[in-house]
Amino acid sequence: MTDPVPIALRAEALEQLLVERGLVDPAAMDALIREYETEIGPLNGARVVARAWTDPAYRRRLLSDGTAAVAEFGFTGLQIEHVVVVPNTEKLHNLVVCTLCSCYPWALLGLPPSWYKDPSYRARAVKQPRAVLAEMGLQLADDVEIQVWDSSSEVRYLVLPERPAGTAHLSESELAALVTRDAMVGVAKVHP
Ligand code: FE
Repeated sequence: MTDPVPIALRAEALEQLLVERGLVDPAAMDALIREYETEIGPLNGARVVARAWTDPAYRRRLLSDGTAAVAEFGFTGLQIEHVVVVPNTEKLHNLVVCTLCSCYPWALLGLPPSWYKDPSYRARAVKQPRAVLAEMGLQLADDVEIQVWDSSSEVRYLVLPERPAGTAHLSESELAALVTRDAMVGVAKVHP
């Protein structure tokens, strides 16, 4: 079903109503949007991943208590109150979805991409993950198991991708530059 009114118009109408009734402060809302547009994005998550690749003790802390380990970078708050980090291996690939709505670790990855909120991704990621990944350009071998993590109102998942081969000479910040949002949702791998 297509929306009779474009979503941007509906959002604007809703915002206007909320402002008129004094329920939101437009300045506060603008500041929040600006922050997510310019300061908070996938680079935060990428720094976490690169640290885990280069520091085995950090990797252990990250996998045992994701929330505390990302807070070491100062990443706290909105939508990452409870972070669980799931590591990819040669034989196991993790994929994150929110089947109910669009729960997403904002403070680590920024705002979710539109495909993540799309009803078809949300429905099919669980039932046909291999097909969905292939359509998104990630062909996994048949012997690689796919584990799908359905976000809930409580938990936000972050995929820890595999460090690509041939990157031993790279520094932590050079590694961070390779890590993409899609790899941390689990719909792509990291390429050197
Ligand atoms: Fe959700």
